[in-house]
Amino acid sequence: MDGTLSQNDLSHVVEADRAHVWHHLIQHKPFETTDPRIIVEGKGMRVWDQKGKEHLDAVSGGVWTVNVGYGRESIAKAVYDQLLKLNYFAGSAGSIPGALFSEKLISKMPGMTRVYYCNSGSEANEKAFKMVRQIAHKRYGGKKHKILYRDRDYHGTTIACLSAGGQDERNAQYGPFNPGFVRVPHCLEYRAADQGAPTENYGEWAADQIEQVILREGPDTVGALCLEPVTAGGGVITPPQDYWDRVQEICRKYDILLHIDEVVCGVGRTGTWFGYQQYGVQPDMVTMAKGVASGYAAIACMVTTEDVFSMFKDNHEDPMNYFRDISTFGGCTAGPAAALENMRIIEDENLLENTTQMGDYMLGELHALADKHSVIGHVRGKGLFLGAELVEDRESRKPMAEKRVQKVVADCMAQGIIIGATNRSLPGYNNTLCFSPALIATKDDIDQIIASVDEALTREFA
Ligand code: PLP
Repeated sequence: MDGTLSQNDLSHVVEADRAHVWHHLIQHKPFETTDPRIIVEGKGMRVWDQKGKEHLDAVSGGVWTVNVGYGRESIAKAVYDQLLKLNYFAGSAGSIPGALFSEKLISKMPGMTRVYYCNSGSEANEKAFKMVRQIAHKRYGGKKHKILYRDRDYHGTTIACLSAGGQDERNAQYGPFNPGFVRVPHCLEYRAADQGAPTENYGEWAADQIEQVILREGPDTVGALCLEPVTAGGGVITPPQDYWDRVQEICRKYDILLHIDEVVCGVGRTGTWFGYQQYGVQPDMVTMAKGVASGYAAIACMVTTEDVFSMFKDNHEDPMNYFRDISTFGGCTAGPAAALENMRIIEDENLLENTTQMGDYMLGELHALADKHSVIGHVRGKGLFLGAELVEDRESRKPMAEKRVQKVVADCMAQGIIIGATNRSLPGYNNTLCFSPALIATKDDIDQIIASVDEALTREFA
């Protein structure tokens, strides 16, 4: 595979990009003296940039998306065939791939029954927030409208999603935010001391903090609790089982809807179809996006139980009694066509099993790296969704400065390995290296990723 363009084409693309493209989430000043990075081709676990340089992608398209890897002809063909047959019709009507994908998806989600299609993770979360608000109005005179979200979790980029955003630097300068969103503390055992928490039964303690917030706000004002099953950009945080048991209990006790944001974990990332299935919890609402079609088409889903759905259909005489919401591009058929084929691939190639096995292997290799490099303070994760938190000093657990963490990422990049790091969003905690290779990763791929981190850490810190 060779992504090299002719010199003329290359200069033209680079100049067009430099002149007109507003890249996501990065500063543009450096482009005055360096070329923007343009990814030209991908195959399997690898991508090629405009200079023809090969990179092993350990973050599935940068943001945990390309779960089945690049260059899948069968997905391209499924989308092509569907587009020729019918590209679009508004979601007030059904479509063949929409019906078949929702049936397939629901077969993997016991307890859930309904799929609402839209385009992005943020949009799916907005749908969930709107449903909570509408239920509050329909059932509780508007009172049970508050949505709880957790420190360090992220739910998207719109103003409502940022209102539910636990990452301060992402929120800075975009306020004022929407009322009715209330923050609860995070649950990262390694940082228990920073919260003044006990290390014994920490999960229960962290869940009890949620209950304290509910009692403070008044249970009759709280409609939903929104959580990432594994906090992604906030540091690959995997709360323990006792946390989840208590969370479920608390939601049931106070009649609070449990909304699980599976935008990153959804469709295989942790080795089960969904992250919440690792913990045996039963959500009321689940949102998903990135891995649903592995980035081959834009699709997001907001999935509910029949109980939630039925709250919107119980009285058809009432003209307001349905979910008065639309997503224009939720009617695109390419999304569910790609998603159906994406799921077939995961099943036929046993990618959930591979994710569990390779995830365990990679976790073990990261622990071995931690034995060698004292700057690795903590290693954690589930399946092929792993993090290594870097510290200045193991004893004090002082987070490593972001600039130093970024040097490790840049060093790996120079070696041809793309890894990630915690979002620039958590004052003091931008110190976790993130790994989320495609679910097709082999031992050899993982060995290469680990070797590059080893080399980078040796070069930067030994
Ligand atoms: N939820 C989580 C957990 C995410 O990590 C993200 C994006 O990274 C979103 C929601 C927002 O998804 P999107 O960028 O598709 O709007």
